[in-house]
Amino acid sequence: MSTETPLDLKKTVNLPKTAFAQKANLAQGEPARLEKWNKLDLYRLIRRAGEGRPKFIMHDGPPYANADIHLGTAMNKILKDFIIKSRTMMGFDTPYVPGYDCHGLPIETFVEKALEEKGKKKNDLSAETFRRICREHAEKALKSQTRDFKRLGILGEWDNPYLTMSNHYEAETARMFARFVERGWVYKGARPVYWCLKDQTALAEAEVEYHQHTSPSVYVKFPLGSDPALIDPALAGRKVFLIIWTTTPWTLPANLGITVHPDFEYSAFEYGDEVYIVASELVEAVAGKCGLGSDLKVLARFPGSKLDRLEARHAWLDRPSLLMVGEHVTLGGEADAETELDVSEAQKKSDHKAGTGLVHTAPGHGHDDFVIGKRYGLEIYCPVDNAGRFTPEVEHFAGQRVFDANDPIVEFMREKGVLLFSEKYDHRYPHCWRCKNPVIFRATPQWFIAMDQAHTDLVEKDEDGRDRSNFTDNLPETPAASLRAAALSEIERVNWIPGWGVDRMRNMQKGRPDWCVSRQRVWGVSIPVFYCARCTEAVAEPSVINHVADIFERESGDAWYTHPAEELLPPGYTCKGCGAQEWTKETDILDVWFDSGTSSVAVLENRPELRWPADVYIEGGDQFRGWFNSSLLIGIAAHDRAPYKTVITHGWTLDAQGRAMHKSAGNAIEPEKVIKQSGAEIIRLWCASTNYFDDMRASDEILQRVTDGYRKLRNTARFALGNLDGFDPARDTVPYDELEEIDRWALAELSRVTKEVLAAYEAYEFHNVYRALFNWATVALSARYFDIIKDRLYTFAPRNKARRSAQTVLLEIADALARMLGPILVFTADEIWENLPDRAEPSIHLALLPKASEESHEALPSEWERLFAIRDDVLRALEEARVAKQIGSSLEAKVTLRASGSALELLQKHQSDLRYLFIVSQVELGDGQENEGASIAISVADGEKCERCWNYSTRVGEWERYPTVCERCVAALKEIEEQA
Ligand SMILES: [Zn+2]
Ligand SMILES: [Zn+2]
Ligand SMILES: [Zn+2]
Repeated sequence: MSTETPLDLKKTVNLPKTAFAQKANLAQGEPARLEKWNKLDLYRLIRRAGEGRPKFIMHDGPPYANADIHLGTAMNKILKDFIIKSRTMMGFDTPYVPGYDCHGLPIETFVEKALEEKGKKKNDLSAETFRRICREHAEKALKSQTRDFKRLGILGEWDNPYLTMSNHYEAETARMFARFVERGWVYKGARPVYWCLKDQTALAEAEVEYHQHTSPSVYVKFPLGSDPALIDPALAGRKVFLIIWTTTPWTLPANLGITVHPDFEYSAFEYGDEVYIVASELVEAVAGKCGLGSDLKVLARFPGSKLDRLEARHAWLDRPSLLMVGEHVTLGGEADAETELDVSEAQKKSDHKAGTGLVHTAPGHGHDDFVIGKRYGLEIYCPVDNAGRFTPEVEHFAGQRVFDANDPIVEFMREKGVLLFSEKYDHRYPHCWRCKNPVIFRATPQWFIAMDQAHTDLVEKDEDGRDRSNFTDNLPETPAASLRAAALSEIERVNWIPGWGVDRMRNMQKGRPDWCVSRQRVWGVSIPVFYCARCTEAVAEPSVINHVADIFERESGDAWYTHPAEELLPPGYTCKGCGAQEWTKETDILDVWFDSGTSSVAVLENRPELRWPADVYIEGGDQFRGWFNSSLLIGIAAHDRAPYKTVITHGWTLDAQGRAMHKSAGNAIEPEKVIKQSGAEIIRLWCASTNYFDDMRASDEILQRVTDGYRKLRNTARFALGNLDGFDPARDTVPYDELEEIDRWALAELSRVTKEVLAAYEAYEFHNVYRALFNWATVALSARYFDIIKDRLYTFAPRNKARRSAQTVLLEIADALARMLGPILVFTADEIWENLPDRAEPSIHLALLPKASEESHEALPSEWERLFAIRDDVLRALEEARVAKQIGSSLEAKVTLRASGSALELLQKHQSDLRYLFIVSQVELGDGQENEGASIAISVADGEKCERCWNYSTRVGEWERYPTVCERCVAALKEIEEQA
């Protein structure tokens, strides 16, 4: 049928039309979409869709409920969301239960400070009241964090997260302590632990950080008490001294021994009428430092073992200092304080760099000192109180703070003539993670989890030699393997990403001392142990602890403070030691890492939608000392297994120069600000665009590049959506075999990129997802495919099969793009999805990732790669012609190609595609080029410009009804009029 009047030509061109705006307007659009998801109850819908699918469990490491989120916290949660959403879209049932770490020192110190500002002291309040304020603080902080995490587009059980301070969780924490007791891995003993003088509590390995610190370095001489002839006859009758070196002069009052290596050679050399002993290898170095001259007369050389169990005298106190041998003594080596060595070892190593081969040993102030002191039966002597002051028994220095006492001690030794040399010494030294003050190593009675020993050896005697525990009632039937051995074997079974994680964790477990789990604090889970008021026997029975745990489950851990001991013990419980029924309660709480480490049991086993063990944990590298570590030990106590199958480590967020971000330094990128300006999507895309296995850099400039990348992806989606206007998939889809060849090429590209993206998601390599999608969008699509099909889409009759062919492929592309972006650009992918025709699911987050197409595309890509290579040459020639003002737009050009052989064959085969491929009006093909390839000539196109399609043609004006259009447009217009 022909209409009466000719059509308005402009209206016959199919211009793109879509509600998917070019400008994203994310800052406004995202909250609206969150509201939409809320109304849909999207997370529930996803859960329901996942029913019956295989489970995939990513277990959330709980962030500390204390402060607002920063870029690092946002990045951590976004990476987790990438995992949850991608595994969901791979067809797994992937619930997400977020958690919060609520107990511990940071909140306590915050609350204490807040009280101080109001002129109140912690001790003015009852423990219950203080705990209530801490709880309220944690609640407030976690609410604000939850709001921020939701704003980032993260879906999960936000209404029901796990809290380490919930009744159930506190009860499970106590039950896990019972489990350790049951396995014979708990003991109470006095051994050196990190101690913060300001916060007055023991600290775990994970709670110290290393900073540069200046200490006095001293060389001190200790007189030999034993007969020198016992070492070597040449020394008979001489005044012999042993030279030690230390950077902690304040530990010298606690010196009880000197340790040498049994196999090293030591030398005794003359200085005036005195004789000094140091390791032979260090004689020159020590003599140089101490100004003893260079022409030294060595009187004797002997192995360290010669000194074993001889006696020195303390440098100034009237008591012996035992000579001992230990394999841990070294002669040098760089200090490596950054690794998970404890302070004494880190310090020993650095000591030996400048040392003497004779190690000052204070069993109350160092791990190695403690171990060797125990072996030689020395007292674990620690004359330092909780605040770090010397106790009254310390002659000359009683009441002084240890760090303040360093200089007076040095002066005192100088006056006494026992100091050979002192200087300032810079080294890495452990500091408290909270208050940033240097910590000390100090022996106090603490609860420990034993890494090595069998449980019968763990009953530590108190000062009176009395057994303070009744663990003998709880002997396991078969003695368990040591916790360390089990941990080391489990580590090998875990998949660590990146692979260096396995070494890091192995070293961590190999070197760590017993786990000190007691803290002299209030805000946490109390160590549920009772002491007999009459005979001091400790009750740490699993059944009793579980009884207390049941009370926690009903009333929360506050019950420990609100009930007297009698109400917490099973009714009628009597002391096994003396039959008394009066009790006191342990006042220490458990290490917060014990709390959070319990999460696999308290959460994964408690919620029906989850299961133990988790498939994956993902956190920053600091968790090798923290959560990865405590979770592993608790997993072993619970089930003899690691609680995770895969552990992923992400890097830190740094500024563009690789420095840490600090608000005060002005280089911090604040998520809240970015969200307000550009949208959460930009932070998400930044996370995906950066390789998170390394440190991740961010700055305004970097985020601007990410925004540009976002725009490219958005424009790609918009082009596809705009050209799908009027396309009804059910009616208009063209079967694969009938598609235009370039459209099949685009499908081959789609299949290639889909495979790449699926593999990257599988391997948690989100940066490779982004790279693959970005390159696909910019190279294959924007620069090639979209460019080439524009003419067909715009100028062909709407229902023309060739146009439908392109649309068929565009729909596949837009659909796959939305799906593949779904886990990353959660808002934008959903918006794309909304604008696609006929989607079954109401949100992209209910859809699955695309499958790579199974069509056989082998022949296509290589053929088209050759055509695109020729195209690149042609486009270059066109550009040159444009610069030379020979032509204006490329449609004003005619391209003449000369080729031979296979190149000619290829071009001939695709002759009808070439004008579209080059976006020119005419292409002439001829024989003639000798080598492989084609010669290109550009000339002005023949004929006149068609008003409708802007191509040039000699046939413009053939049809008088539309005198200004070309023959192609004539055909299109005829089609349009017929279909009208
Ligand atoms: Zn501190
Ligand atoms: Zn008793
Ligand atoms: Zn035309």
